[in-house]
Amino acid sequence: MKAAIFKTKHNIVLETNKAVAPPTAKEVLVKVDTCGVCGTDIHIFDGEAKASPPVVLGHEFCGTVEKVGLDVSTIAPGAWVAIDPNIHCDSCFYCRKGLINLCQNLRAIGVNLDGGFAEYCLVPATQVYQISDSFPHQWGALAEPISCALRGIERAQIRSGESVVILGAGNIGLIMLQLAQIAGAGRLVVVEPLPERRQIAQQIGCDGTIDPKTSDAEEQIQQMTGGGADVVIECVGKTEAATMAVRIARCGGRIVIFGLAEKQDSLRVNLQDLFYRELSILGSILNPFTFQTAIQLLNSGKIRFDYYKTQSFTLEQIQRAFAAHREGKYHKIFIKPNI
Ligand SMILES: [Zn+2]
Ligand SMILES: [Zn+2]
Repeated sequence: MKAAIFKTKHNIVLETNKAVAPPTAKEVLVKVDTCGVCGTDIHIFDGEAKASPPVVLGHEFCGTVEKVGLDVSTIAPGAWVAIDPNIHCDSCFYCRKGLINLCQNLRAIGVNLDGGFAEYCLVPATQVYQISDSFPHQWGALAEPISCALRGIERAQIRSGESVVILGAGNIGLIMLQLAQIAGAGRLVVVEPLPERRQIAQQIGCDGTIDPKTSDAEEQIQQMTGGGADVVIECVGKTEAATMAVRIARCGGRIVIFGLAEKQDSLRVNLQDLFYRELSILGSILNPFTFQTAIQLLNSGKIRFDYYKTQSFTLEQIQRAFAAHREGKYHKIFIKPNI
């Protein structure tokens, strides 16, 4: 089969004759339909995030079951599936407390084990989730980002009617916007510098959008939320956005830092401000026990992707796909290994 192998920093090689191993007893062989390019893939490619090379990257993917191992009874060949790439160990301190996203021995498909930038991928049956094939197939590749966003929503604990501000209207921002709607948000505001992205957020449904570059952006947000947001979800991964998140939260507000910032970035918070306003600043990582809900949401058709701008590439074009991701003109870049 064809597979894009990450060897070292800035070095991905397309192998055309990689052997496809048959599944062992508890494994499933998946024929990859679509694999999303994620910031994590780019960080690994740039040598800024850890992986276990040589390895096939790509952890946001869906496809059809080709073969199953002898002991697999949960899924059958031909099924349309999405893959949860995060494999926890079940026996470390955190796993034993149910905090599987903090597993100390976590291994991820597409990071430490061969992933979706290949025609086929062998995965443990525990990571395979059947999905409806009633919507365009490529959206199945968004099950993983939806599952991570669901963790962010859990951390935010939105109560019905609360005001929510989403910072950033890229792929994750637009997913968060829709999850916040579903969670019962009242006033919903999206902050995004690019006008075309603000327009799409508006089409998907929010009460207002704001350009953070306008001088009175924060006053506008205060006004639209009636004195500050109950919940702010930061989906940018930059110090300026996190700083704004703290400033626009109302007393008692929860701030979820969801975007992954650069290593050197940090946030300065005035301690008296934190104390008197009783703010909660929360992290959110991976997708503990949220993948099944992500599948339910996808199947329900409640999350809309019809406004998304996407572009698809073949495996041979993976370098171009990475470049397109960096350019940031699209909500999602897809690799279609079997085209
Ligand atoms: Zn990802
Ligand atoms: Zn563990």
